[in-house]
Amino acid sequence: MAYVGNLTCRDCGLTFTARWGASHGADEYRCENDHVVRVDQETGIMLGLAANGAGGRTLADVFGRCPSCSSELATGLLPSCPVCSGRDHDVSVGGVLG
Ligand SMILES: [Zn+2]
Ligand SMILES: [Zn+2]
Repeated sequence: MAYVGNLTCRDCGLTFTARWGASHGADEYRCENDHVVRVDQETGIMLGLAANGAGGRTLADVFGRCPSCSSELATGLLPSCPVCSGRDHDVSVGGVLG
């Protein structure tokens, strides 16, 4: 499920609004630079990357690494803080997007 809500950074105290999580049959992966890659849960194909030449490739094809910066992708990460890039947040879920 995808969520929208307020995240409060434990490092710098900034509160910002973000959305995160899987939705519409696609898992959400992030790299440490906060590039988001959405992966079809049935086929494993990365979605929405046709523009940068990654169209039709699966997560296995890129060895689980970010197509933009080659750092390792992980699922279940919260968006990083836009100010300090911290990823340790207090979470206040405002809604579920299904
Ligand atoms: Zn911060
Ligand atoms: Zn990246």
